[in-house]
Amino acid sequence: MNDLSNSLAAADIAHSMHPYTNMRAHEQQGPMIITRGSGIHVYDTNGKEYIEGMAGLWSVAVGFSEQRLVDAATKQMQELPYYHTFAHKAHEPQIRLAEKLAEMTPANLTKCFFTNSGSEANDTVVKMVWYMNNALGRPEKKKFLARNKGYHGITVASGSLTGLAGNHRDFDLPAIPVTHLTTPHFWRYGLDGESEVEFTARLLKEAEDTILAEGPETIGAFIGEPVMGAGGVMVPPEGYWPGIAALCKKYDILLVADEVINGFGRLGTAFGCEKYGFEPDILVLSKQISSSYMPLAAIMVTEEVYGAIADNTAKLGSFGHGFTGSGHPVAAAVGLENLKIIEERDLIGNAARLEEQFQTGLRQYSDHPLVGEVRGVGLIAGLELVADKATRKSFEPAGMMAAKASAFCTEEGLISRSVYETLALCPPLIVTEDDVAEIILRMGRGLDRTYEWAKAEGLV
Ligand code: PMP
Repeated sequence: MNDLSNSLAAADIAHSMHPYTNMRAHEQQGPMIITRGSGIHVYDTNGKEYIEGMAGLWSVAVGFSEQRLVDAATKQMQELPYYHTFAHKAHEPQIRLAEKLAEMTPANLTKCFFTNSGSEANDTVVKMVWYMNNALGRPEKKKFLARNKGYHGITVASGSLTGLAGNHRDFDLPAIPVTHLTTPHFWRYGLDGESEVEFTARLLKEAEDTILAEGPETIGAFIGEPVMGAGGVMVPPEGYWPGIAALCKKYDILLVADEVINGFGRLGTAFGCEKYGFEPDILVLSKQISSSYMPLAAIMVTEEVYGAIADNTAKLGSFGHGFTGSGHPVAAAVGLENLKIIEERDLIGNAARLEEQFQTGLRQYSDHPLVGEVRGVGLIAGLELVADKATRKSFEPAGMMAAKASAFCTEEGLISRSVYETLALCPPLIVTEDDVAEIILRMGRGLDRTYEWAKAEGLV
């Protein structure tokens, strides 16, 4: 520790409240302060190098030192650092980015609304669904269907859609009408003797039974991440998404794909809905949209959704919703340049090409004494740790072993993230074969050290 890191740590403890952090523990252990990034690496105040195996928060597709994004931001700052998009105002970066997103996303999604964050985007989706159904004269069609362990953000409405106890408990959520269905994760929730196809059929029956019990005329939308991310990286069972899409069509329920993590190549395809063969009515995008160099999120909707909303604004005078930063010119300019880089360097193709090496390489740890399941697609993976491989029983207290393993990985120079019982990896899309090999190696070292520690502590 040098003087600078000591004084920064003291100031951080004195004045900062960190998200998703045990604040009392933070007062004792202090922050890990990152000073710079280069490619897939970040460096702390002691100059120690880490592979950022989580791309920050599942987001820095192009790595941590992309000069073209710096230049795009600088140029936009010099020309027009800020302008808004309320009341018919527009500017070129916002216009071009909306146009680009309409071109990149599935053909039925033509209209775009910008927000600063994924949470704001999902709150906006809730309000759009409510507004649309009010406009269509069916004010009772307001409820949402979501899934346990789904992650959609933390604001009051998006946090209600999120299906994680820690996001509800003590926050008085859910605050909007939402029913959470079973997590589509066969390994954890499949019954003894049940096949994957039978599991899917059971989940689809649960969804249909719920729709019928609540009344289809009361359900506005179904929201889900094609591959679930922050709840523990869960890959859907075969046939799940086409089945959900068919139910939504049958009962006139809007289908919302939250691709805040999946979008722009994470799964080896441009979007998760393409990978799993369904057409959402609403697509939510963020994170890799700008590689998180600037806060940015977008909601893409169909002409049908747009039309119902637009007709009503013609009656009322305006859509009474929007953020000061909606379509921020610097964020939009950075996002546009970032998407160009993703295309020019074929980073989606890179994720597809490296999928086999990444996924197969990590699956060798299925045999590790601490690991229950290794799962993932494209360049996202989760290793779920268990106390008992046969019964799949988790360690107690919940999440403790994954947090410990993530800490050992960090010491080995690999930043991962522990989400509940699972160690998540989601490296920048610019990774090479050598990088992937190194990530797998460091993960192995982290797991081995965790096992040694657990043995010494008498936990295994
Ligand atoms: N949806 C998904 C699928 C996410 O993963 C996240 C963030 N991890 C969000 C929404 C919320 O985004 P934000 O943190 O930008 O509010």
